Amino acid sequence: MPNRDSADLVVVGAGTIGGWASVFATEHGAERVVVLERGESGQGASSRAAGIVRAQGGTPQTVALGMWSIDFYRSQRERYGTDSGFRELGYLILATDEVQEREAKARVEMQRAAGLGDVRYIDAAEAARLNPTLDPATFRGGTYAPGDGCVDPPRNVRAYSIAMQRADVELRERTSFLGIRTGSDGAVTGVETPEGTIATERVLLTGGPKLREVGALVDARFFVGAVRHQVAVTEPHEAFDVERQPMVFENAIGLYWRLEEGGLLFGMSNPDEAPGQAREVDWPYLHAMEERMHRYVPIAEGLGIRKAWAATIEYCPDHLPIVGPVSTRAGDEIPGVTVATAVGHGMMWGPGVAKIGADLALTDMTEVTDVSGWGMDRFDEEGRSPSYDPIALPFPVTAADE
Ligand SMILES: Cc1cc2nc3c(=O)[nH]c(=O)nc-3n(C[C@H](O)[C@H](O)[C@H](O)COP(=O)(O)OP(=O)(O)OC[C@H]3O[C@@H](n4cnc5c(N)ncnc54)[C@H](O)[C@@H]3O)c2cc1C
Repeated sequence: MPNRDSADLVVVGAGTIGGWASVFATEHGAERVVVLERGESGQGASSRAAGIVRAQGGTPQTVALGMWSIDFYRSQRERYGTDSGFRELGYLILATDEVQEREAKARVEMQRAAGLGDVRYIDAAEAARLNPTLDPATFRGGTYAPGDGCVDPPRNVRAYSIAMQRADVELRERTSFLGIRTGSDGAVTGVETPEGTIATERVLLTGGPKLREVGALVDARFFVGAVRHQVAVTEPHEAFDVERQPMVFENAIGLYWRLEEGGLLFGMSNPDEAPGQAREVDWPYLHAMEERMHRYVPIAEGLGIRKAWAATIEYCPDHLPIVGPVSTRAGDEIPGVTVATAVGHGMMWGPGVAKIGADLALTDMTEVTDVSGWGMDRFDEEGRSPSYDPIALPFPVTAADE
């Protein structure tokens, strides 16, 4: 019998990153993988997301991450006998002025060079042919990728939970990660929980909007913030009772919408809002965003709201994942401890980030994409970093300690 209190890998957090990473780790050869979840599987951001999935990234590496994740979603049924409900709907990222049009066209070149062969710039008339609910007079055109789509976030939680069970991952719910033990060389030797110590030489830290707190437990500082993000679904309308209709993103302000249950699901964050945990729906802001959507989709005007929720999303000011070795505030690497976060893009990049996290935790290398610019060492003392992904929600500009 294996010792119950030892593991080849301990994963902190049973969200989409920790969940899928634990499965990938077993596929990579890790025999005993334990996942610690302080609440219940999926109770963080992962069950509350809007489910938008796109390969239209703003850098070659995030394009690769999106493509990897979409391929994974498509392969799930064959691999695991279950899936996250990926639906290919296509995605239109609007250009509303000349500058945006120029940037969009340049992005298409970059994305095609990065391997996303079917992305193209389309004018407003073609966009309205693809999505007849759009008023073509309200925008110039946009970039369009027919292979983008959405997942069903609760179904994704179910999918990784089933895959974890089948892979014999040991999920310990209601078991908080409290910290690590290290040896004389500073390397991790164990993980502390309220039930005692789990002996291990490898730990993968996740935590989504709680990642900063998780980091503090190992004396690491992650430049990840947490802020309210709101999603609502309109009542049904026959115009949305279709199998396929491209999702739309107004990148300039961070408003997106897509088909959901015969109506439209739309979501956004308020970039002017102070970071912190979401506690309630901000109705005035929600209605302002709804009105903004009506500008593009006049037919949605007058539709009631069927459901709405506010949840806490994690973000990083440069909008890029954080993956790789973990160092303390003093700058000392903690051998054996790895971090993985998709910083607010856990549906579109989650599988790829989870795979990278598992790969780096077990072997120090990954083939998903070039991750050399995504380490926690890219930030200066104030949390500034040298690059960013321009296709993202407009989150607060800083994630430095409050
Ligand atoms: C409203 C909303 C809409 C979104 N829409 C989209 C979208 O359309 N597309 C997209 O790509 N992304 C979207 N996101 C972002 C996406 O949901 C997240 O990026 C993703 O779910 C994060 O996954 P995670 O596993 O890192 O974190 P989580 O799902 O939050 O999981 C982290 C887990 O760690 C656990 N934990 C924390 N501390 C500890 C501890 N000390 N010990 C043990 N466990 C601990 C938590 O309980 C939690 O279950 C959205 C998010 C929100 C909130």
